Amino acid sequence: DRTLHIVGGGLAGSEAAWQAAQAGLNVVIHEMRPKVGTFAHQTGKLAEMVCSNSFRSDDSEQNAVGLLHWEMRAAGGLIMEMADAYRLPAGGALAVDREGFSQGVTDRLRQHPNISVETSEITSLPEDGHWIIATGPLTSDALGAAIRAETGSQALAFFDAIAPIVHADSVDLSKAWFQSRYDKGDTEAERTAYLNCPMDRDQYEAFIDALLAAEKTEFHEGETAGYFDGCLPIEVMAERGRETLRHGPMKPVGLTNPHAPDVKPYAVVQLRRDNKLGTLYNIVGFQTKMKYGAQKSVFTMIPGLENARFARLGGIHRNTFLNSPTLLDDQLRLRAKPHIRFAGQITGVEGYVESAAMGLLAGRLAAAQIMGKPLPAVPDTTATGALVTHITGGAEAKTFQPMNVNFGLFPPVTGLKGGRRGRRDRYKAYTDRAKADWAAWLDAEASGL
Ligand code: FAD
Repeated sequence: DRTLHIVGGGLAGSEAAWQAAQAGLNVVIHEMRPKVGTFAHQTGKLAEMVCSNSFRSDDSEQNAVGLLHWEMRAAGGLIMEMADAYRLPAGGALAVDREGFSQGVTDRLRQHPNISVETSEITSLPEDGHWIIATGPLTSDALGAAIRAETGSQALAFFDAIAPIVHADSVDLSKAWFQSRYDKGDTEAERTAYLNCPMDRDQYEAFIDALLAAEKTEFHEGETAGYFDGCLPIEVMAERGRETLRHGPMKPVGLTNPHAPDVKPYAVVQLRRDNKLGTLYNIVGFQTKMKYGAQKSVFTMIPGLENARFARLGGIHRNTFLNSPTLLDDQLRLRAKPHIRFAGQITGVEGYVESAAMGLLAGRLAAAQIMGKPLPAVPDTTATGALVTHITGGAEAKTFQPMNVNFGLFPPVTGLKGGRRGRRDRYKAYTDRAKADWAAWLDAEASGL
């Protein structure tokens, strides 16, 4: 049977359907809107952009998301074709007319001879056939419950609680140091599991003041159910008492500052390694609802992070997502039920572009498998490959939180100089390498290797 069923006609499901149909499969899209709605979607159209109308930077030489645009265009992606067709002037960003964009995607999919669209909510995991589940951050309750029954409650989250992530090479090691509390572990990986940033009393008090004063974002209406049962935002912890953080995530125990061994820090901010490559570290316990600008000014007050570059800032949102490192294989298949693939935001990527990219990949992988010519793995030197490698294996499973594409996910290019100039050269080297490797992967696919 050459029919591929796709649940959810959002950014990912639409692209997956397009790719699979172009490859010759019959595709059925099962989309619940407008019969069943979500708190964020407003229409019954496919590929609705629920919030901003931006696909972020379109710079494919210096920006990882711009590189993802490039890769999707090279693969004949429908989402990029329609984004380009409905582009609005916005400097270096790719902003789109959201109405025209989603109408354009809807028309192209509905007109495709291999695609049919059914308005229906899928409420259980299918037992057979070929499926891609791309139901997004607002997966319906019934399907969410069915997925959770399969994966266990630890492996499907209904909220994200994202602590900011910094590039390791931007931490000032003349102030910060590597050490696990009480020196637990003795392998190299364990020794570099944590980075520590010390604060004296004045620095701590100033930091608490800044946290309390910072501008925060609000939850959307209908978004908050069940929110406080896990992770409190750091600023809410600070509101509960000026000492709360010093006795919580910032406790200074079990650590010795090699830069000042005789001075006991008043508080310590810990960063935990976020990927196997060791290029990214998250700030432990610092999930937050502070606005992005406020986060940058508050977190760069931390000694050692004055010049930190953020791979992503913190946030807390309603977001249904899998613990993909434990549940999915590198083909985006559910290990326990390999006839089901997942795609889009539910796989633990974050953003319109990343979601569409995982749809593109899932659609191609499904088509290739069904047609009996499975594809080689996507090189992890490409933006698409770096992202899928991160979510299905590179990320630390225990602390897995959704991820944007960024250069910290790429295997480092070595031998280039540091500093600002060096960074431009490095990013250009990443993107040149990615484009060559992506083109080669597409060629290998086209020639059926
Ligand atoms: P979606 O685009 O949400 O598509 C999933 C589809 O599945 C929906 O059409 C839904 O109706 C359908 N569906 C759900 N359950 C079922 C079911 N059981 N049966 C059938 N159909 C079902 N990203 C950005 O880059 N910029 C932003 O500004 C931004 N703002 C966001 C704001 C909010 C409130 C949320 C929740 C997310 C936001 N995101 C944003 C994150 C994310 O990029 C988008 O949600 C993106 O649309 C995800 O793509 P997707 O295809 O995975 O999910």
